Amino acid sequence: MPVISSNKPYRVGRSKTGLGLFATKPIKKGTRIIRYFGPILDSRIPEQDDIENKYLFELNGRWTIDGSVRKNLARYINHSCRPNAESDVRPRERKVYIRAIKNIEPGDEINYDYGTDYFKAYLKPIGCKCASCEKKRKKLRAEARTERAKVKARAERKAKKAGAKNGAKKLNGHANGKANGRARA
Ligand SMILES: [Zn+2]
Repeated sequence: MPVISSNKPYRVGRSKTGLGLFATKPIKKGTRIIRYFGPILDSRIPEQDDIENKYLFELNGRWTIDGSVRKNLARYINHSCRPNAESDVRPRERKVYIRAIKNIEPGDEINYDYGTDYFKAYLKPIGCKCASCEKKRKKLRAEARTERAKVKARAERKAKKAGAKNGAKKLNGHANGKANGRARA
């Protein structure tokens, strides 16, 4: 059974992408925060191998934890590409713990990296919504905006120059050099 006491340093809360798990107390780097648990599925048993949901946690080629059970609060932990926690996978014990890899402050969302396979299958197609990726996207958008502004300013300068040149040519054509002479005087 999981320990769900008032001493737990986390709570389920609203995150940007739905629900998430948030620290309610300072959690020191290296601390085991919560166990990711559920029925153990054996891939050699067809009925168990057929189970499909997004809370499956593969321990190894044979064993998988079905974390979709309600009491498994660790299932609320969202993915991050720059997480503050990690999954400590113990295939022999068939257990997974989520452990802090940074000091986590109250109010911080707890995240771990779901790994390349999950990322490729579920996150890449829709675009990862983790804070790190959002920040990257924001930066790229800002850079694109600056670049567009630069291009626009350059185009405007060019247009102005071209306009001035055309005007000057016309003037020269009409005035036939007299204007220059007058300007010099
Ligand atoms: Zn990401």
